[in-house]
Amino acid sequence: MHLDLATLSLLGALQALLLAPLLLVATRAYAGVARTSLRIWGVVLLLQALGWVLASLRGQVSDWFSIVLANGVLIASFAETTRALRLLLGVPQRRALLAAIGLAIWLGVGWFGLVQPDYRMRVYVAALMVACYSALLFWPLRHALRPGGSVAQRVMMLVILSAAVAWGLRLHELFTGPAPPGLLVATPGNLVNVIYGAIEPVFASIAFLLMYNETAQADLRRLARTDPLTGTLNRLALDEEARRLFDQGGGAPGLAVLMLDADHFKAINDRHGHAGGDRVLASLARGIGARLRPGDVFGRVGGEEFVVLLPRTNLAAAIALAEDLRAHVAALPLQLDGQAQTITVSIGVALREAADADADTLIRRADRTLYEAKRAGRNRVAAPPRTA
Ligand code: GH3
Ligand code: MG
Ligand code: MG
Repeated sequence: MHLDLATLSLLGALQALLLAPLLLVATRAYAGVARTSLRIWGVVLLLQALGWVLASLRGQVSDWFSIVLANGVLIASFAETTRALRLLLGVPQRRALLAAIGLAIWLGVGWFGLVQPDYRMRVYVAALMVACYSALLFWPLRHALRPGGSVAQRVMMLVILSAAVAWGLRLHELFTGPAPPGLLVATPGNLVNVIYGAIEPVFASIAFLLMYNETAQADLRRLARTDPLTGTLNRLALDEEARRLFDQGGGAPGLAVLMLDADHFKAINDRHGHAGGDRVLASLARGIGARLRPGDVFGRVGGEEFVVLLPRTNLAAAIALAEDLRAHVAALPLQLDGQAQTITVSIGVALREAADADADTLIRRADRTLYEAKRAGRNRVAAPPRTA
């Protein structure tokens, strides 16, 4: 079987060229970080296509094009790949570092391409670049290896590892045998590299899209669970969390629930308008959130009502926390329309009981206790009687 490496690398270029416009057009439908990373990926594919076309012209055009420019374009594609993925992974892009690595490597490749032509050294320098950029990706990707880690990120690790194996073979060949005069000479190491290069645009783009999809799903899930006014959990998320905590454990101390309702909130809206009321609600949520312990779950059930779920908390501790929240809210320094404004909350406490069938039963009991606090005059905590 005769495989022509120049043809194979042109095939890779063609695939990248076909994929790039699809991704660039697709970015129109997205927003934010996801859009930026998809757009960078589209540019990466264009750079790869150009780089591989230039590299496949080795011997037919000047070395300036087939070595210096081709490598420059391919180095830029590696740097941009790293940037797109770091963006998607939510870690700093490190643009200056990526550019510095790329420039240093490009100068090295240029030196050993034109000034002091040495194919072996060119490959070593390029391998150094692959190692640097791979390290900058592997570090944030390492979390995927934990149990339950991201499948998409593991696929991307596989793509990077495959590239490392292909490069390893090429380096092994250079270390152990006579140096081939260039990449397009069909030695086993070169063959593996060019085949990998030809499938890489599709292989890596699938991994990238899987990662993109996971990020988009996580963003949507976060949005669907967040109350837009206060940034706390919304009713849907609170129901889920309550069910999860309820199912998790029955042992003592168990699960406690605080139901909070702002007192005379209508009066605040009447005095300062709905927008003023909204600002008070946001401050109230911030004030309450700041007093909670790690592990406590807090959210807005609707209107001016909030819930706090307290795992592993007994009645005495739940009442103490409720009292602390009540006092803290009453002392919040609020300013509306240039006037000092105070707000108070009434709080109902409930503790999980053996007879509770589900989390809803427990929350309804906290709601009923809250209305005892309202009836008793507001700005107070109501709780079930303490038993031994
Ligand atoms: P109390 O609970 O002490 O009995 O009196 P209240 O005035 O707070 O009574 P109620 O619970 O009946 O009224 C709540 C008010 O909260 C009614 C509604 O206009 C207002 N409200 C509900 N949701 C929002 C909101 O998102 N923003 C603002 N600004 N007001 C809201
Ligand atoms: Mg109210
Ligand atoms: Mg209410």
